[in-house]
Amino acid sequence: MRGKLVVGNWKMNGSLAANAGLTGALLDGLPSAQAVAKRTIAVCVPFPYLGQIQAALTGSAIRWGAQDVSPHRSGAYTGQVGASMLVEFGVSLVLVGHSERRQLQGEEDELVAAKAAAALTAGVTPIVCVGETLAERDAGATPAVVLRQLDAVVEMLGDMLGRIVVAYEPVWAIGTGRTASPDQVQEVHALLRKRLRAANAEDVPILYGGSVKAANAKALFALEDVDGGLVGGASLDAKEFLAIAAA
Ligand code: PEP
Repeated sequence: MRGKLVVGNWKMNGSLAANAGLTGALLDGLPSAQAVAKRTIAVCVPFPYLGQIQAALTGSAIRWGAQDVSPHRSGAYTGQVGASMLVEFGVSLVLVGHSERRQLQGEEDELVAAKAAAALTAGVTPIVCVGETLAERDAGATPAVVLRQLDAVVEMLGDMLGRIVVAYEPVWAIGTGRTASPDQVQEVHALLRKRLRAANAEDVPILYGGSVKAANAKALFALEDVDGGLVGGASLDAKEFLAIAAA
């Protein structure tokens, strides 16, 4: 059974004071336990705030995660954070291969797949982000790009594949206010679903991300192969994020 999932990506935003305000507002505004039981709500926060968020959200219906993870277990990898360290802070989800890391840190498909494997080995669910740039879309390369990105993970994970989450995030829709149309989203999600089905992982949830707001969430989440959303900017506003989760 594919679950419904809405994940906030705070990116490099926040402060101790701002996070306390945001988590407090999320907990205050959280819908009834029954409504929450039908979906998973989570926030992916910067590493230094994991302890604070763990303390604030433990015992609540909101899960928390990180925005990156090392492909290595431990050792001489200055600046990296291992999956077992995330587990100590109650992390159950981690983003891997976000387009900002692929573009700004030069992360390639094999590295993203290795990070997903490291997360799974420690019991953390990787949210594997895939998506094309505007130039790639205009060149008609969207299917080739997203399938190449997914295939790297399919090949590396083997039997663990069924335990991931995939997020389709067209790069041109992230933080731009431009949302992909429902037809564009469903077309790519169906393609990803087909590839997952062929790898015996049909039930892997596929999220859509890219300028999701309360105003467009309902139409996007109603699509056949969309199982929820990965939400950047709008996740910094508790009311907006909860309205998206309610959609
Ligand atoms: C993201 O950062 O994953 C994202 C989808 O951002 P935004 O919602 O701001 O476009």
